[in-house]
Amino acid sequence: MLKNRRSRLKPFFEDNTLDAILFTSLENIRYFCGFSGSDGALMLTRDEAWFLCDSRYTTQAAEEVGNAEVREFAAKYEAICGLIIEKGIRRFGFEATRMPVSDFRQLSERLPGSELVGIGTTLDAVRSCKDQGEIELLARVAALASDSLQSVLAYIKPGIRETDLALELEIEMRRRGADARAFDFIVASGVRGAMPHGRASDKLLRSGELVTIDFGALKDGYHSDETVTVAVGRPDARSCEIHEIVRQAHDRAVAAVRPGMCCRDIDAIARDFIREHGYGDYFGHGLGHGVGLEIHEKPVISPRSETIIEKGMVFTIEPGIYVPGFGGVRIEDTVVVASDGCRLLTRAPKELIQL
Ligand code: ZN
Ligand code: ZN
Repeated sequence: MLKNRRSRLKPFFEDNTLDAILFTSLENIRYFCGFSGSDGALMLTRDEAWFLCDSRYTTQAAEEVGNAEVREFAAKYEAICGLIIEKGIRRFGFEATRMPVSDFRQLSERLPGSELVGIGTTLDAVRSCKDQGEIELLARVAALASDSLQSVLAYIKPGIRETDLALELEIEMRRRGADARAFDFIVASGVRGAMPHGRASDKLLRSGELVTIDFGALKDGYHSDETVTVAVGRPDARSCEIHEIVRQAHDRAVAAVRPGMCCRDIDAIARDFIREHGYGDYFGHGLGHGVGLEIHEKPVISPRSETIIEKGMVFTIEPGIYVPGFGGVRIEDTVVVASDGCRLLTRAPKELIQL
């Protein structure tokens, strides 16, 4: 599997005529060599690989990294430069969107004879299409998070704090085997629902309010991402109307996903529907984003995204309507693209539940 992943780098070697590519971001290191620790560097040539780490990680790397020579270092950039000189690497790529300027300076100052080639946003898309092993991990973590939410719904009632709900949900995920929460949950009730990224606050839930809950779990390096908007008690007519528009926009976009489509056309299906129903000014963000080793990764599903959808891509569909001073609704699922459509990985019900 890791060998197949490395074959994805072939065009980067060819297009940039590189001798090697240096990876320093933990997600790409994990993707290409399996190391799950918190510091290290991976150097790949077309047919050789070296993983560099400090003494905290030598034993772990020996267990996890089967496809690269593991070397221990005392000082990271000294070791990277030593390897480059030892192997006669003249021209190498680095992750231009990930490397801090200070690290870049260390490399370029120590290696006056080498050419550093920044590989930018195209490299960020290298993990867009998930392989079978990744899809299984993503399905498992998504199911774990959805089931946790289902259990916690019974806890929701007037008078509890948004932060209490977030905490209960996190505990339930951990109880079911999550390594951590995937991000700080959004729990936005009543007028706070108008904030697309309203983190859980001390506000108490009140009867008649909608509550948007955006949540996810992290397990084995992979994230889940899902949003439900539920009602505490009986919601008013406008809340029901907004929820129904968002739900239909979501369902239409999910039903339309096919390999070969342009990402912005998926976005347009949900966005046009919301606009036709009078709420176009209240849906400002993109429709979705890739999910994997990072919570936000490629592809981007937005009005500007020209990426073509491919089988195996995993991304969210998350339309919303946010009305300042009133409240809001978002509904989000994570989907995996199949040859004839897409399959939902997240599975909490998306109709308006009254609690
Ligand atoms: Zn989300
Ligand atoms: Zn999302």
